[in-house]
Amino acid sequence: MRRFVGDRLLIATHNPGKLEEIRHLLEPYGIAVTSAAEHGLAEPEETETTFVGNARIKAHAAAQATGLPALADDSGIEIDALDGAPGVYTADWAETPAGRDFVKAMTDTWEKLEAVSAPVPRTARFCCTFVLAWPDGHDEVFEGQMPGQIVWPMRGVQGHGYDPIFQPDGYSVTFGEMDRWEKNRISHRAKAFEKLVSVFD
Ligand code: IMP
Repeated sequence: MRRFVGDRLLIATHNPGKLEEIRHLLEPYGIAVTSAAEHGLAEPEETETTFVGNARIKAHAAAQATGLPALADDSGIEIDALDGAPGVYTADWAETPAGRDFVKAMTDTWEKLEAVSAPVPRTARFCCTFVLAWPDGHDEVFEGQMPGQIVWPMRGVQGHGYDPIFQPDGYSVTFGEMDRWEKNRISHRAKAFEKLVSVFD
């Protein structure tokens, strides 16, 4: 695995929450973080059908445009009884003419599971993939998953996205009911982060 030896890393996201989380994580390693937005980069189209494919598009586009190493992530939820859907289309399922609506996305998800009479437990997993790309075209991939099940009705108001209908394995609460710090400690993203930081050690 190629190690990261610089002191400056571009985070290929336009999401301020993700940027802050990653900046905080990298502070102890003395790495200064700069964002795609600060460099005026456009968001490339995510045309691949896998998390790693889409994270690669974002990371390489940013590295090529700036000449800096760039980190991108892609995430979503895979539901077994729906053949892995929504997967890379997790955010798309929430799109409405008025913006993203995750209550609608969660309701649609549940209705799809009912329509196929999916057996209980309705197993699923949250996935997170980080890609670190260098301007010379090399990249390294780091993945984390959190297995669990889809439950209904929605429970909890914490977190974001599909959290109120996802109950992680080993817990009796949903991500939506879980304390934010607890979730951030055990989540798919935390697991991918743990692997990622090994390149900075
Ligand atoms: P992206 O990675 O920004 O393309 O978005 C992936 C989508 O997956 C988000 O819009 C969320 O709906 C969903 N997602 C990813 N991680 C989580 C999570 O930890 N909780 C709830 N939803 C998530």
